[in-house]
This record gives sequence, C-alpha cells and structure tokens, in this order.
Amino acid sequence: MTLPRRLVILLCGTEPGLRRMLQYWAATCILYVICIVLLLAQVSQGMADPVAAHRLIGYGGCGAIAFYLLIRASSRLGLKPDQLAVSQAVFSLACAMVAYAISGPLRAAMLTMAVVVIVFCMFAARPRQSLLLAVGALAGMGGTMYWLQATDPARFPPVTEAITFGYLAGALLSTAMLSVEMSKLRSRLKQKRIELSEALDTIRVLATVDELTSLVNRRRMHEVLDDAERRQPDGRGTCIALLDIDFFKQVNDQYGHAAGDAVLRSFSSAARASLRANDVLARWGGEEFLLLLPDAAPEDARLVLERMAERVHTMPVAGVQGRRISFSAGLATRRHGEPFADAINRADKALYQAKETGRDRIVLA
Ligand code: GH3
Ligand code: MG
Ligand code: MG
Repeated sequence: MTLPRRLVILLCGTEPGLRRMLQYWAATCILYVICIVLLLAQVSQGMADPVAAHRLIGYGGCGAIAFYLLIRASSRLGLKPDQLAVSQAVFSLACAMVAYAISGPLRAAMLTMAVVVIVFCMFAARPRQSLLLAVGALAGMGGTMYWLQATDPARFPPVTEAITFGYLAGALLSTAMLSVEMSKLRSRLKQKRIELSEALDTIRVLATVDELTSLVNRRRMHEVLDDAERRQPDGRGTCIALLDIDFFKQVNDQYGHAAGDAVLRSFSSAARASLRANDVLARWGGEEFLLLLPDAAPEDARLVLERMAERVHTMPVAGVQGRRISFSAGLATRRHGEPFADAINRADKALYQAKETGRDRIVLA
C-alpha cells in the first residue's frame, strides 16, 4: 500500500459512510480556510478588529477539530450523519454571524457563507431539518443585524442592514426550498435503493432455489459443479448420485397432483436431513434429484444414501397415507480429471440399472 493511501485510511478510516461524512467535513474546512484568509486580509487593511478576528479563527479551528473527532467517534457515540450535519451547520452559522459582526464594510460578503452552509445540508440533513436550519439562520442573522444597528448605528446603518437582510432572506429562502427538494429527492432515492436491493435478493433466491422443494435448482447446481470443477480440477474424492422417486406417476394418478407435490416436498426435507454439511442436493427435474458429495469415498456416499432411504421410507406424507415411498439411485465416483457431465452420465446409467433390477436400491457406477 502506498504512503498517501495509508495516510488517507489513517485519517478517514475505511467505512464508506464515515468517509462520506469526512469528505463533507473537509469541504467545510476549505470554506473555513477561505473565510480565515479573507478575514485576515480585512484585518491587514484595518477593516476588522484583529483581537475579535483572531478569537474567531481560534474558535473556528477548535470547532473543526472537535467535529473531526466527533465524526470519527460517531458510531461509538451513536451519532447519526444528519445529527452531525445539523450540529456542524449550526456551528458554522454561528461563526458566520460573528464574522459578519466583526467585519468592516465587506461584511455583506460574509452572508454568502450562511447560504453555502444551507446548501451543504442538502446532502446530509432531512427536509425538515434543512427548513428549520434556514429559518434559524435567518432569525439568527436578523437578530444579529438588528442588535448591531441598534447598538452601533454609525457602523451599521439601519437602512443598509434592513436591505442587506432583505437580500439574505431572499437568498436563504430560495436555497432552503432547493435544499428541501434535494433532501426529499435523496430520501426517495434511498428508499428506491432499499427496494431495489430487496428485489435483487428475491431475484437471486428465485434464480437459485426450486420453488416447490426449496432445494437448489438445476441452474444453481450447474454453477456449484462448475465451481467444484474449478477448485478441484483433478476431482478426486467426490461422489455424485442421481436419485429418482419410484412409481411417482402412480402417486399422481392415485392421489392427485397436490399429493404428488406433497411427496416431493417431504422427500426433499427427509433427504436433506440425511446429508452432511458440505453435501448439496438439487432438484434436477420432475422427481429426479442430483446429489453432490464432496470429500466422500463411495462407501461414505452409499451410507449417506442408505440413511436417506430409511428416512424416506418412514417419512409421513399428507394425503398419501399407507403408501411406502422409495427411490432408486445411481452413484458414481468422479474419476481423475473427469468432467462432472461425464460422471453424471455414468450415474444416470447406474440409475437406469437400479430401476431395471427392481427399484428401491442404490447401484454403483
Ligand atoms: P419410475 O419408477 O420408473 O421412475 O416411474 P415414475 O412413475 O416415477 O416415472 P415417470 O417418469 O413415468 O413419471 C414421473 C412423473 O412425475 C410424471 C410427471 O407428471 C410427474 N411430475 C413431474 N414433476 C412434477 C411435479 O412438480 N409435481 C407433481 N405432482 N408431479 C410431477
Ligand atoms: Mg420416477
Ligand atoms: Mg424420472
């Protein structure tokens, strides 16, 4: 990792939400620096009181550091991004008011800062918070202007202050409206993002899970097999079995399609209960299932299938009382470097033999 990147991680962390908040914080700091430079320029020209200006600069700097620490500790303190944004905005507005009071003839320029603060809130505050902040900024600035013209009318002529306030009110009002609209847009976008991610989760489930049995579907099983082939190209120690429920058509014909579905569901849960942690059972189609048994010798695989057969024989199925359900299986061990498609073909042939020789049995390929 390069040194600048390490420095960025040290200062901003790795969590995206935290990084975003610190980006806003950095943007606010740039604004502070611009204000400080301009204030110092005024001081150098004798337009602003140096003591008050230095005090304000110190106050602003301490505030910036305090907010950096607060943002970094926000998750531990349970502070939400909008709470931090609003408190930062209140602090910046207070600074802008003091800057206005201590500035000379150029003080009206300081008011642009109040507008910029409200603009910043578009990105983090809620619509109501943005509106309240704008109203608060207007009231605070108005109060400051009123107090200044009342206490020092020579420096702050009442008419000038009143007209300046009018301009500020117009600018703040339109910015606040824009900010509220932007905040609403952000909330809508956030909601849409949540809905989209939920829809994606549903699609992912639908694309990989069989609806009737909740087993892995054929499409997903192909991915699982491709993955296993990639991870274990030589393919030693893996077994594959094709399972087919015996005389299933008779179940459908005798008890109805719904009872047939119930058999498929019961078979799937009984079969699943017999598996080891890494085994994968998929519905391969109709009443046929494919079982992948990684790290299994043929004897282990046979044991798993025998255990499964016992469970299936005794499983209760609603609607088909009294009928013994069984399945036939063809079991193949994947040969050295053999593609799964070939191993499945051999298992299929073994399954055919199992059916031919009387069903309800496991035949090794
Ligand atoms: P075998 O012992 O030789 O396997 O005979 P079988 O009757 O089990 O096999 P066959 O292929 O003759 O019939 C399978 C039946 O499975 C036919 C089809 O209608 C039924 N089937 C396929 N999918 C479903 C399903 O999702 N639900 C239900 N209820 N039946 C299904
Ligand atoms: Mg069948
Ligand atoms: Mg079949």
